Amino acid sequence: MCAAVTGDLQAIIEDIHRTLKPRLGEGKVADYIPELAKVDPEKFGIAVIDLEGNVFKAGDCDEAFSIQSVSKVFTLTLALGKHGETTWNRVGREPSGSAFNSIVQLEHENGKPRNPFINAGAIVVSDLVMAGHTPREAIGEIVRFVQYLADDATIGIDPAVARSEAATGHRNEALAHFMKSFGKLTHPVDHVLGVYFHQCALAMNCVQLARAGLFLAGNGRNPLTGHTVVSSQRARRINALMLTCGHYDGSGDFAYHVGLPGKSGVGGGILAVAPGRASVAVWSPGLNRNGNSLIGSLALEMLAAKTGWSVFGGP
Ligand code: GLN
Repeated sequence: MCAAVTGDLQAIIEDIHRTLKPRLGEGKVADYIPELAKVDPEKFGIAVIDLEGNVFKAGDCDEAFSIQSVSKVFTLTLALGKHGETTWNRVGREPSGSAFNSIVQLEHENGKPRNPFINAGAIVVSDLVMAGHTPREAIGEIVRFVQYLADDATIGIDPAVARSEAATGHRNEALAHFMKSFGKLTHPVDHVLGVYFHQCALAMNCVQLARAGLFLAGNGRNPLTGHTVVSSQRARRINALMLTCGHYDGSGDFAYHVGLPGKSGVGGGILAVAPGRASVAVWSPGLNRNGNSLIGSLALEMLAAKTGWSVFGGP
């Protein structure tokens, strides 16, 4: 990273936070999962961790939130570790152009989801992570993996969110049963969804989330722990999927405005990766019409512009 940016980064983060704070009312907090509707829409946190381990943060960056679909990056990483490239026999790598919970493409593509970051694809990935495990063991493995990535054994699941999702998860049940009817899930639907709902209910703060994503900025290696999590080729490929598919039908817009691999969740969190430079986590619960954090996306756009970190070059 260029030294000038390192020195200015804390000031940049604080400036972004101050500038966007008055706009926090603009997004809409997800309410289809009742437990998420209780979250204060005024929450706003940013954390940036560079490859030297310097942490730059502002706002509510130490308060845990429901990471929801950001977890799909971590379960994909786990599934690739277990199944390698055969993972792609079960789930595609193309942007969907559809909403995160859409069912329409499944009928045309014999129940094979377009990518691992839409709900249908992530449910297949949960099925892959379960291989050889009971649901409880698979959930434990996911939690331990995220703790390992972030080097923080305090990270856990919010059981109230997991229950809330299970109680209202009719759309995900429909997706899972539909895929099961095509023979695309190997485990019972209720077991797979149990794992999926729990991974979505992981609770992390921005600093923990940025730490967990650092291996993707570091060519597969977490520079803080020295652990090589994945090969550099796999890190590059996961980043490519985050860039093309990480924001559902808003992925093109996110690439256009921010230009970084990123993964959003309906809890209002976004993990963004500046390869070779830093890992960034933002949290603001108000969502845009694609279900991505509205202010979080703007914060990342400002950060990319001020640092010149877009993977497409230039500020
Ligand atoms: N748990 C949420 C769901 O399945 C995750 C969706 C999201 O974060 N986009 O609906």
